Amino acid sequence: MIYKRFVLAAVTCGNTGHPGVGRFEKRDGYLLLLGVSRQRPGSTIPPDDAARATTDGPAVAMAADYRGCPSCGADNIVRCDCGHLSCWNSAQPSFHCPGCGVAGVVSGVIAGVTPLASG
Ligand SMILES: [Zn+2]
Ligand SMILES: [Zn+2]
Repeated sequence: MIYKRFVLAAVTCGNTGHPGVGRFEKRDGYLLLLGVSRQRPGSTIPPDDAARATTDGPAVAMAADYRGCPSCGADNIVRCDCGHLSCWNSAQPSFHCPGCGVAGVVSGVIAGVTPLASG
C-alpha cells in the first residue's frame, strides 16, 4: 500500500458557494491545508455518500503559507457535521455550510477529511 502524503478534498466556498479542491499535506501529525483551487469545469466532486463516510483522522491546520479561499479570501476552513468542508473567515464566530444550509458556531478542530477518489 502506497503511503499518500498529499490528500485532496472538496472545499466549498461558504460565501459564494463556488466548489473548490483543497490540497492537504500530512505533516507532523497534522493535515496541513496548503491551498484551495477553484473546481475545474468538468471535474467531479465527491457525492454526499462520500462525505458521510468521513472518518476521523489527523487534525486539520492551515499551512503557514496558506493564501486563503480563492473565491472570497477567507483565511480558514471548517467542517460541518454533514461532512462538508467550507471556507471560513476566522474573524467571524459562525459559519454557513454550503452543503446542508446549516449556520452554526465554529467549535473544536477538524479531525479528518474526505479524500477525493481521484486524489
Ligand atoms: Zn470562500
Ligand atoms: Zn453541512
